[in-house]
Amino acid sequence: MDNYSFTPDTQMQSYPYTDDPKLDILRHEAQLVIQDVRDFSLPDDLVISVVNSASDFFGQPHPYIINADGTWEMANDTSTFNDDIIGFSRQQMMEMGIYGQDALSLVMTHECCHRALQNIGNIDPWEHELACDYFAGVRAAMQHIDSSNFENVLINTQGGEHHPVGSLRVDFVEHGKQMAQELIGDGIQPTFENCLELFNKHLSEECQTIQLHREAVIDMQSHIQKTDSDQLSFTGKYSGSEINKLKSDVETLEYELNYKNSDVGHHQRCVDLVDTPNGHKNGEYDYEVKQLNKAISDCDYTASRLKDAQERLNNAL
Ligand SMILES: [Zn+2]
Repeated sequence: MDNYSFTPDTQMQSYPYTDDPKLDILRHEAQLVIQDVRDFSLPDDLVISVVNSASDFFGQPHPYIINADGTWEMANDTSTFNDDIIGFSRQQMMEMGIYGQDALSLVMTHECCHRALQNIGNIDPWEHELACDYFAGVRAAMQHIDSSNFENVLINTQGGEHHPVGSLRVDFVEHGKQMAQELIGDGIQPTFENCLELFNKHLSEECQTIQLHREAVIDMQSHIQKTDSDQLSFTGKYSGSEINKLKSDVETLEYELNYKNSDVGHHQRCVDLVDTPNGHKNGEYDYEVKQLNKAISDCDYTASRLKDAQERLNNAL
């Protein structure tokens, strides 16, 4: 985890002024309209530039970016940053209300922080997410990125097995901002290491709060499951929020399946690479085949859970 430094970011250029004030006003208005369309539609060049600048922030090589059903990060081989993939779903971002360069930059800072943490094994999923939110806050403070839209979107996200509740996440974004500001105020350059240390400190201070949120989420999930089965056995009817929950289960599993399918592809390529006389001799081939089979069975398991979730949803509609 050494050798990280935070590097400065680039900003969008605006039109240079002319000698004619009326023309300047017109050009300014035109620019606002163009900016608004750009902020709303999140064009490819913007996506690529924010992913790359988020990677630069962590001192990482630029990743592959693909259009996907969700926005996510895939580490592949966790000992290197060179094969990382960022999946981007414009539709998901627009539906969540991510608007403009600042909010998208913080989303991608979150995703690139997953890259930065890829070689730390066995982090609790909630803590992993909170670290990524925290570092989005650190960057927001260091590079004067407006975090209001990002936080407004986060606060409305529901907690689950893998993601903490929105209020906790915003709390960690704010804490990241505060820590970076304090370091800078004390004349200390924020680095990945000193910020991570302050994150771990905050995590241990907040462990009880986090635990309470976790229990509340588990409670809510078991309540929904119970209500689902009650509703099924007695009336066969579901409320709107229960149907939304079933839909979101399907979406989450579709996303997971997409991810696991890519994982199978990755392991297939690994097997092909060592399918050589030497690879067979030194055992690499057998090892990679085992990894591939594991990825396939993971993928099959997700596919069967998705099928179940789709059936539950179909029954409810
Ligand atoms: Zn995440």
